[in-house]
Amino acid sequence: MEFECVIGLEVHAQLMTQSKIFSGSSTAYGASANTQACAVDIGLPGVLPVMNRQAALMAATFGLAVGATVNPVSVFARKNYFYPDLPKGYQISQYEIPVVSGGSLEITTDAGPKTIRITRAHLEEDAGKSLHEDFHGMTGIDLNRAGTPLLEIVSEPDLRSPAEAVAYLKKLHTLVRTLKICDGNMQEGSFRCDANVSIRPRGETTLGTRTELKNINSFRFVERALYHEIDRQISVVEAGGAIVQETRLYDPDADLTRPMRGKEEAHDYRYFPDPDLPPLVIDEADLALLRSQLPELPDARQARFVSQYELSEDDAAQLTGQSEIADYFESAVEHAQGESRLTANWINGELMSWLNKHDIGISNSPVSPAMLGQLICRIQDKTVSGKIAKQVFAALWEGESDGDVDALIQSRGLTQITDTDAIAQAVNDVIAGFPDQAEQVRAGEEKVIGFLVGQVMKATSGKANPQAVNELLKKQLLD
Ligand code: ADP
Ligand code: MG
Repeated sequence: MEFECVIGLEVHAQLMTQSKIFSGSSTAYGASANTQACAVDIGLPGVLPVMNRQAALMAATFGLAVGATVNPVSVFARKNYFYPDLPKGYQISQYEIPVVSGGSLEITTDAGPKTIRITRAHLEEDAGKSLHEDFHGMTGIDLNRAGTPLLEIVSEPDLRSPAEAVAYLKKLHTLVRTLKICDGNMQEGSFRCDANVSIRPRGETTLGTRTELKNINSFRFVERALYHEIDRQISVVEAGGAIVQETRLYDPDADLTRPMRGKEEAHDYRYFPDPDLPPLVIDEADLALLRSQLPELPDARQARFVSQYELSEDDAAQLTGQSEIADYFESAVEHAQGESRLTANWINGELMSWLNKHDIGISNSPVSPAMLGQLICRIQDKTVSGKIAKQVFAALWEGESDGDVDALIQSRGLTQITDTDAIAQAVNDVIAGFPDQAEQVRAGEEKVIGFLVGQVMKATSGKANPQAVNELLKKQLLD
C-alpha cells in the first residue's frame, strides 16, 4: 500500500518587545536565572497583568502580512495545567477568539507554487525553563522566560512532505524577520515549532491519527524528525498496529522520536476567559497605521529582484530568503554601478561560502557591500580576472588595505596583464618550453591548447587575460 503524509505546524515566534507581554520585566536573553521575573510573571497572589500593546500590534502586523482577518476584539483565556516552570498553574493564551484568523503563505514545491492556509495566530505568554544540569542531580527553575510574548501561528494540515514543511517554516521565518516582529534566533528558541503528522493510504480523504513532535528548533531537525516519524507510523500500520495520538520528542543525538506523554484534549485544560484582562481591541485606525508601515514583503521583493535586476527566479529567491542578504545585494549593486547579475553570483557563490565556512551572518561580513561592489567594477573593466578577484576577495576578508580594493590590487601587483607584448613574450616562452604539445596543436589537436593556456597563466601568476592568451596561441600555432 502506498501512503501519503499529512503535516500541520504550530510555530511559536517570540515577539521582539523590550518588556514582557503582561509585565514590565525585560525580555533580554541570557541574564542570570530569575533576575528578570517579577511578581506578575510568577503569578504571586493579587497581582494584575497589563497587556503590552506593542505585542498586540506586532500580532496584527503579522495578520495583515498573511492576508488574514485581524479580529477587532479578541479574548485572553487561561489554559490551566500544572508544570514546575509554570508557578501560577495556568498560562495566559487565546482560545475561542484569537487575534488573527485565516490567511495563507505561498511556498515553492517541486510541482510549483502551493498555498498553505493558516488557521489562526494567537498571543500567549511563554513559560519558564527547567534546568537539569549543574545542580548536583537536582533540577533548577529559571523563570526569566516566563511571560515572554509569543505569537503561536497554526497552519492547516496542508503540507504533504517534510520538504514542504521546511519550505513553509523558512518562508514564515523570513516573513517574521522582515516584519521585525521576531528575531528568528532558533538556537535561543525565539522561533520553534511543534510538528503534527499523520499518514493515510494515498487517495484517502479523511485524516489519520496524528502525533505531535514537540519544540523543534532547527530546519534540519524538523525535516529529520518528520522523516523518522513518518517511517515509524508506516511500520506500525504495516505491522497491523494503530497509531496512538500522543506527543513525542525528537532526540537529535539518537536521531529518533520517543513518546513523551499522551495527548491532552482541549477540555483537559479547562479554558476560560481571563477575568483580569479586558478584551483586546484592534480597530480600523490601528490597522490603517500598521498597513502604512508594512515593509516590502519577501514575495514582492523577490518579484522585484527578477524584474528590476534581471535575475533568475532562483537567484532572486536565494537573495530574498533573508532580508539582510537582500539589503546587502541592493547596496552592493549600487557600488557595482548596476552590474546586478555578477553581483548576485558573487553573493550567492563566493560570499556565502566564506560566511558559511566562518559561521558569520552577512551583517557582520568583513567584506562590505561597498568593497564587493568596487571589486565587481574592477572585474568589469578587466583590471582583474575573475580568478584573481577571488584572491582579492580573500585579502579583503582578512582586512588587508583597510578594504580599499584598488590599493590592494596595486600593492599586490594583481592587475591583469592586458599588455599584448607582455603576453606575447610569455606565449613564445611556453611554445618554446613545450615543443611536443605545440606540435600536437599544429597537427590539429586543438584541445591541447588548453594545456598551453594553463602554462601561460601559470607563468604570469594568473594575471594574463586568458582570452588574449588563447587568441595569441592560436595565432602563433595555427595561422
Ligand atoms: P492542538 O492545539 O490540540 O495541538 P489543533 O487542532 O489546533 O490541535 O491542531 C494543531 C495542528 O495539528 C494544526 O497545525 C493542524 O493543522 C494539525 N493537524 C490536525 N490534525 C492533523 C492530522 N490528522 N494530521 C496532521 N496534522 C494535523
Ligand atoms: Mg498542539
